[in-house]
Amino acid sequence: MALIVQKYGGTSVANSERIRAVAERVVATAREGNQVIVVVSAMAGETDKLVRFAHEITDAPDEREMDLLLSSGERVTSALMAMAIQKIGSDSMSFTGRQVGIRTDSSHTKAMIESIEADRLKRALGEGKIPVVAGFQGINELSDVTTLGRGGSDTTAVAIAAALKADLCEIYTDVEGVFTADPRIVPDARKMDRVSYDEMLEMASLGAKVLHGRSVEFAKKYSVPLIVRSSFNQAPGTLVTKEDGAMEKVVVTGITHDKNQTRITLKGVPDRPGIAASIFNAIAKANINVDIIVQNVSSDDNATDLSFTVSKSDEKKALEITKKISAELGSRGVTINSNVAKVSILGVGMQSHFGVAARMFETLSREGINIMMISTSEIKISCVIDVKHMEVAVRALHAEFELGQG
Ligand code: ADP
Ligand code: ASP
Ligand code: MG
Repeated sequence: MALIVQKYGGTSVANSERIRAVAERVVATAREGNQVIVVVSAMAGETDKLVRFAHEITDAPDEREMDLLLSSGERVTSALMAMAIQKIGSDSMSFTGRQVGIRTDSSHTKAMIESIEADRLKRALGEGKIPVVAGFQGINELSDVTTLGRGGSDTTAVAIAAALKADLCEIYTDVEGVFTADPRIVPDARKMDRVSYDEMLEMASLGAKVLHGRSVEFAKKYSVPLIVRSSFNQAPGTLVTKEDGAMEKVVVTGITHDKNQTRITLKGVPDRPGIAASIFNAIAKANINVDIIVQNVSSDDNATDLSFTVSKSDEKKALEITKKISAELGSRGVTINSNVAKVSILGVGMQSHFGVAARMFETLSREGINIMMISTSEIKISCVIDVKHMEVAVRALHAEFELGQG
């Protein structure tokens, strides 16, 4: 008997009809002789709606309160899903993150899972029940509710699969798997049959929201076989697994885009040792991740411009901190640009090929797109551009590196 964790995303549980269809699928898997644990997201659009409500009340919602608020969306779908499963004749029980002992750190709104008590889930399985767990949430050491960051239900599912040593974790979503680029932007994007943990990790961290980055980290660390597939049909999906010889050897595996970026620039900062450390220490202390950093060559007056990107959800906090530091350093002020996006090309094959970056820059230049920032690693190249060019850039790069179906 196999143990399978199935996670259903927002579109897959968007209304009662969809919840009933998913319940049928879950029960069919159980009737084939498997033990099944279900993890659900909030109904599509619900989390956004809750975020909007909070911002109608205040500009700067308290993060502890935000977590309690946002966790409610997943509670709703978990209870409805358990009812739908019961209705078609199988035993089921819903659980919040707290009830299955998902313990996290205390970084509200982007907490990290530290441990899961598997007992309650094992007991439910032992009693022949299908447990349905509310995704995206846990509790911290004070028993306060935390959430795992947008898209975090994937991480709940993989962490549960790892904790219970499940045979498989299936992520059901609204596309047929992992594609060479977002199929909503690139119509001829190709579905991949297999992708390595490392490449998936890179794709997720560069903005391909089909999987939450941390879920891939867990899957890799605990060797959880992970399948991404559609809840709307029976297509086999994409297997995320260890790299092996059978995987395609291509230079560029995929193109990603990320609109969730803001660029902050400190103008005329004194160019002397310790300045960067003081800026980025202050930002790190506020639990904000900085992505790309660019420092210009200093001008005659020994001052330089320093730009960096943070995610949009952190932009207010990051701006406040940067303005404070700017005043302390006597720099010439701070500017912010929220209309930026990051497009990236990635692939482990890039390590052994020359000229990939040049091809990327040439493609963007051919489309008349100005590059504001560049960042590279062995297996990816990212460019920050104006958001209005993002879709054109993704399509042009996808064509340039011949990733399409044709
Ligand atoms: P869910 O609500 O099921 O978690 P998400 O919206 O979080 O679904 O993730 C699925 C979406 O990810 C797809 O609808 C697609 O638009 C987007 N996406 C972005 N990049 C990719 C990619 N490379 N492959 C597949 N989907 C992608
Ligand atoms: N409901 C949360 C979100 O919309 C978590 C998830 O769906 O994974 O981000
Ligand atoms: Mg998601």
